[in-house]
Amino acid sequence: MLLQPRDGHGRPAGQHGQPLLTAQVQSRHDASLSYSGLVRAVGEGRVRELQWSPGSKRVQATFEDGSRQIFAVFEENQSLLQAAEAADVPYDVVDSSQRTAATGLLGNLLMVLLILFGLSFVLRRSARVANRAMGFGRSQPRLRDQGEVTVRLEDVAGINEAKEALQEVVTFLKEPERFTAVGARIPKGVLLVGPPGTGKTLLAKAIAGEAGVPFFSMSASEFVEMFVGVGASRVRDLFRKAKAKAPCIVFIDEIDAVGRQRGAGIGGGNDEREQTLNQLLTEMDGFDENAGVILLAATNRADVLDLALLRPGRFDRQIAVELPDRRGREAILSVHARSRPISPEVSLAQWAKRTPGFSGADLANLLNEAAILTARRQDSAIDDSHLDDALERVTMGLRAAPLQDSAKKRLIGYHEVGHALLTTLLEHADELDKVTLLPRSGGVGGFARMTPNEEVLDSGLVTRAWLRDRMVVAMGGRAAELVVFGPQEITQGASSDIRMVTGIAREMVARYGLSELGPLALERDGGEVFLGRDLLLQRPAYSERTCQAIDAQVQSLAKQSLAQACDLLAARRPLLDALTDELIEAETIEGARFRAVVAAFDQANSGDSKAVAATAPV
Ligand code: ADP
Repeated sequence: MLLQPRDGHGRPAGQHGQPLLTAQVQSRHDASLSYSGLVRAVGEGRVRELQWSPGSKRVQATFEDGSRQIFAVFEENQSLLQAAEAADVPYDVVDSSQRTAATGLLGNLLMVLLILFGLSFVLRRSARVANRAMGFGRSQPRLRDQGEVTVRLEDVAGINEAKEALQEVVTFLKEPERFTAVGARIPKGVLLVGPPGTGKTLLAKAIAGEAGVPFFSMSASEFVEMFVGVGASRVRDLFRKAKAKAPCIVFIDEIDAVGRQRGAGIGGGNDEREQTLNQLLTEMDGFDENAGVILLAATNRADVLDLALLRPGRFDRQIAVELPDRRGREAILSVHARSRPISPEVSLAQWAKRTPGFSGADLANLLNEAAILTARRQDSAIDDSHLDDALERVTMGLRAAPLQDSAKKRLIGYHEVGHALLTTLLEHADELDKVTLLPRSGGVGGFARMTPNEEVLDSGLVTRAWLRDRMVVAMGGRAAELVVFGPQEITQGASSDIRMVTGIAREMVARYGLSELGPLALERDGGEVFLGRDLLLQRPAYSERTCQAIDAQVQSLAKQSLAQACDLLAARRPLLDALTDELIEAETIEGARFRAVVAAFDQANSGDSKAVAATAPV
């Protein structure tokens, strides 16, 4: 219920009910006139004019003094008409039906407009949905037009062979006539094969940048959609767009997502991925050799690619993009150091030495982390300490809260010193970089970091002695726990070490022929099985008895490694204790300091540690 405000007499304020006009009249006439009063006033000649609007059943009276008043009247108000006629008062009839009709029309029009607007809204929405459905088949490559690609070949370092191999593509894109004049056919597709982060995408971009041509890039997984046929149509669309922009470079990342061998799927061969691949093959055949579209594709698994992709006329050129060697790493570090303030005492050569196995992306990340730390500490240039912390961050994760002095800290101390001591003692083991008890996020209580042997890493050749020493060092943690705390107190902290040892031992026995079983390749190369194909084909190529023999060999290698580790540590128990005490105190011991302590101990005990290690039987 709506409450009306009341006036001083307790009546509702609007009780009089008259419009504003009437209120004005009231001020001039003492009282407002009633209908009969009006008829009387007309008869007395006090009304100058009447204006009647039958539609709204109202009469407006204009009085002698010019004031006006509106009266509600009956539909058949004959008395007023007669009075007006008798008194000769002019009266006028206003046709308000016109106005009503206009208002009605306007209302209707508004309604129609509203309906139209609503309809168009609904239609537009459904059109958008339909559009999306129709646009499924369109590819969405990222396009950088010429001039937009700022990467140049000089920004790619450490992979010189790949750079040189691609140099001719740049020349072709710049001066195709040189090749066409002598009838040379430039490869349509170049496959860049290498581990992630080695700079394959960067290289493809650099070629486009160097040749000054547009660069299309897409990941192969973006072709594949839930619906069969969409991938194929996206491939068609990509090539159509590329041909329109020729000469240009099309880069397809992770080509193995669609380029895997066909017929290897479990649920029949005609799946979406295979149709996409077929379309890719067809498109590659379809475009003219010297049309100026060069397809670069990247993968880290060339072995799983369909052979049809690799035949001449398609990806007939494969370029290996390997992890950089030491000089390569130095060059990559210099590329990324160009845009950052580096303190003069930092030796990038030294840092390249400390980062074997790092890819270009890892090195870029290392410098970036160092730059972040520099900014956080509000220093002006990146120095060795920033790089040191950044290296730890990228290899071991973020630093966690330091361990309290406790039995746990002591146990971890012995465990890590066990690894560190063995790697220092054994002839073929890697050099110790540092051992620390500063924990890292992810439950790492401490770690002993070795600098991997560059020679082994670069050549890719490992000796039996190297593998054995590696197993012994890995067992160092468990061995130290055993020697110091006894068999009941050993912990599960060595689980990843044990996994590693088992892995090495198994490879030695079953793949490398480095065990008493002799030179037998008993297992295929590692790597994921090809669903469907390998599951059916992969039966062990040996009998049940050989299987048991393999297990026995693996077991024996692991046990021998642990036994040797225990022997070596037990023979140097005072050294183990002293180094652990120092580690608990200092929390970190650098490799050089560690080696000095070991050498001093050996000298005092006049024993040649390396000799002892080398002669210990495995
Ligand atoms: P990939 O495609 O091989 O996985 P990327 O080309 O995407 O690797 O590399 C990622 C980033 O790592 C690059 O943007 C670049 O900053 C850095 N990077 C990788 N390799 C190199 C290299 N050889 N020279 C310079 N920077 C590199």
